[in-house]
Amino acid sequence: MKKISFIGLGPVGLCMAVCFAAKGYQVTAFEKDASKANQIKSGEPYFYEPHLEEFLQKTQNKNLRIVTNNEEAVLQSDITFITVGTPAKRNGTINLRYLTEASKEIGKSLKKKKEAHLIVVKSTVTPGTTQNIVKPLVEKNTGRKCGKDFFLCFNPEFLREGNAIKDVLEPDYIVIGGYNQKSAGMLKELYNEFHKEHLPSIIQTNIPTAELMKYANNTFLATKISLINTMANICEKIPGADVTKVAEAIGKDHRINPHFLNAGLGWGGSCFRKDLQALITFSKERGYRPMLLEATCRANDLQIKFTIEKIKEKLKKIDGKRIAVLGLAFKPNTDDIRESQSIKLVEQLQKEGAKVTAYDPMAIPNTRKTLDKGINYALSAIECLKNSDCAILATEWEEFKKLKPEDFVQNMKTPILIDCRRLYNQEKLSKQLCYIAIGLGELAEPQL
Ligand code: NAD
Repeated sequence: MKKISFIGLGPVGLCMAVCFAAKGYQVTAFEKDASKANQIKSGEPYFYEPHLEEFLQKTQNKNLRIVTNNEEAVLQSDITFITVGTPAKRNGTINLRYLTEASKEIGKSLKKKKEAHLIVVKSTVTPGTTQNIVKPLVEKNTGRKCGKDFFLCFNPEFLREGNAIKDVLEPDYIVIGGYNQKSAGMLKELYNEFHKEHLPSIIQTNIPTAELMKYANNTFLATKISLINTMANICEKIPGADVTKVAEAIGKDHRINPHFLNAGLGWGGSCFRKDLQALITFSKERGYRPMLLEATCRANDLQIKFTIEKIKEKLKKIDGKRIAVLGLAFKPNTDDIRESQSIKLVEQLQKEGAKVTAYDPMAIPNTRKTLDKGINYALSAIECLKNSDCAILATEWEEFKKLKPEDFVQNMKTPILIDCRRLYNQEKLSKQLCYIAIGLGELAEPQL
């Protein structure tokens, strides 16, 4: 079995590392942030991801070793996955600082190794980056030639936070962009061995095409959500219309499929926004303005504004009102709040003078780091609702599904609920409280 190393232990690197180790591979992993690395070493991931802790504890100090420098990781492996972050700069372009640094370090480490080595870029990068930045940096720092002395692939990652372990173990498909046949062949062999009889389809292509595929995937998904949110906003103008029915129907069309058709507060998470921005600026710099992608972003921003308008319509003014926000994570089953629409909504409510109380089963510690002033954190959903003038269901956590109409009526000052994730039954709730939901027109007159 090949020995594997990972550089950068965020959700992608750490989830992949524990999965490879759990399958019996010898894995060395380097995370440059010492506090994150120490926490991982202690057997506790520094972020929440279902099953990650159990996988880490099963593999830590056995097949998985967290090492303290790049060289130790690279020299004790045959294949190195680069899994560092590729955030956006202020102007929207991709920030390649971490990738550049990692490539230089890998080059320096590889200088001390004689045997062939495969470098696999997993981080999402704009087309051309692997060949024009990673390759020359490794060549310069090793003094060796790509395709001859070391090998290079781009292999995008499609895992979803909240489902990351399963997605690494059972991906829908694998994309391999190889610098040459030998590079692609080495990575194919690894995945053949990793997945055995469950090997998903592998799409082999050149590196820039593979780099673009990741952006195509993310921008498609974000656009699909923005499309259904647009339908939701139209539904709200039509008495009796319901976007969930629209989604259910169109989802049955095999050209569309039912996934990513949940209308809501908008998409969030660390990737969609920065990847859309990166591709928009990348294209514009090359003389093409991708207006569809710009509209996808704009539509997402507007979902916050429309939600604020719904609150204003009911409360008349927001200033001084107590607003309960249920859910802070960008989606359930994660404590990740990066680009969370819920956080943006809280910030906007605060700007308008609301007194916000928020509750989330997992994401409060992360939220405290960015939003500390003027926000109350509750210990439970019920506590969050107490004495509020209006409640907003912002993240569809399982535990919020258990709330009953009485919980809102008995705890809130004025029972107004804005369901931004379509978690509740309109007929049941609207009998007892003022229930407003995304993508739902006013209750229609019963038809004869
Ligand atoms: P992240 O930023 O959360 O984590 C990256 C880690 O790499 C950080 O902990 C950082 O300290 C570390 N790091 C940076 N430079 C380093 C270096 N030189 N040596 C060692 N460690 C270093 O990123 P992430 O969310 O895990 O994503 C990684 C990449 O994968 C990104 O390009 C992202 O776009 C892509 N991706 C992310 C997801 C996701 O859901 N998070 C899904 C698919 C693809």
